[in-house]
Amino acid sequence: MSQVFGKSIIITGASSGIGEATAKLLAEHGAKLMLAARRDDRLEKLVAEIESAGGTATYQTVDVTQRNQVEALAKSTLEQYGKIDVLINNAGIMPVSRLDQLKVDEWERTIDINIKGVLYGIAAVLPHMQKAQSGHIINIASVAGHKVYPGSAVYCSTKFAVRAISEGLRQEVGAHIRSTIISPGAVATELTNSISDPEAAKNINALYEMAIQPEAIAQAIRYAIEQPKEVDVNEILIRPTAQE
Ligand code: NDP
Repeated sequence: MSQVFGKSIIITGASSGIGEATAKLLAEHGAKLMLAARRDDRLEKLVAEIESAGGTATYQTVDVTQRNQVEALAKSTLEQYGKIDVLINNAGIMPVSRLDQLKVDEWERTIDINIKGVLYGIAAVLPHMQKAQSGHIINIASVAGHKVYPGSAVYCSTKFAVRAISEGLRQEVGAHIRSTIISPGAVATELTNSISDPEAAKNINALYEMAIQPEAIAQAIRYAIEQPKEVDVNEILIRPTAQE
């Protein structure tokens, strides 16, 4: 039987892309899912699809920049499933632009969602996992958390931060709680829709011609969860074969 079977798993950013593909895959493997994002119409449809295929899922409307909403997400997961085995901090945005475009509001939004959202998720589940002396926190970083690209300084900085937070978490609570970084390259999702700068959009669209499907990332996440509890997959880098 799959190690995913019966696990209570929270996925943020489950309304599209990598989160949605991961929800479908983990549901097929018998996970009990709590799906979170802002677009509740998408989540409602996804839960119905998972349930009609025999899976177990529910959803909660959550903006990860709102700490109280993330806390409420953990609370209702505990009420629903009695435990939290895995948190997948996946919600993120990528409104890339050169720094001299001075899109300061977009910088703030990117930091709030991509960094603070991840920290709020960790804060919401960590006390329960420490009490249970077991748990797994999976943070979605990026190839952009390893290398800075022109026009992507702020986005890259958030993904460098996600990797630092995950590694710190591993060092501090790793005796019982697993910490995994998943670092994708170009994946065909709605992520590029948030780019408001036409020049940046043009450059990114050229890169994304080689993008791989979100199901490939879902498989990497499943692999990390499926390992026996004494095995912590620290990081998986996964990108299109042709990506630099
Ligand atoms: P999508 O745009 O398809 O998905 C992003 C998800 O994040 C959506 O479900 C969105 O839901 C959710 N989200 C955004 N803002 C918030 C918020 N404030 N509160 C709650 N949820 C939010 O893109 P991806 O699937 O590609 O992105 C998933 C993760 O993968 C991100 O962290 C991204 O940085 C990372 N990544 C993606 C890569 C790619 O090439 N696609 C490459 C490397 C990393 P909603 O709008 O309904 O709230």
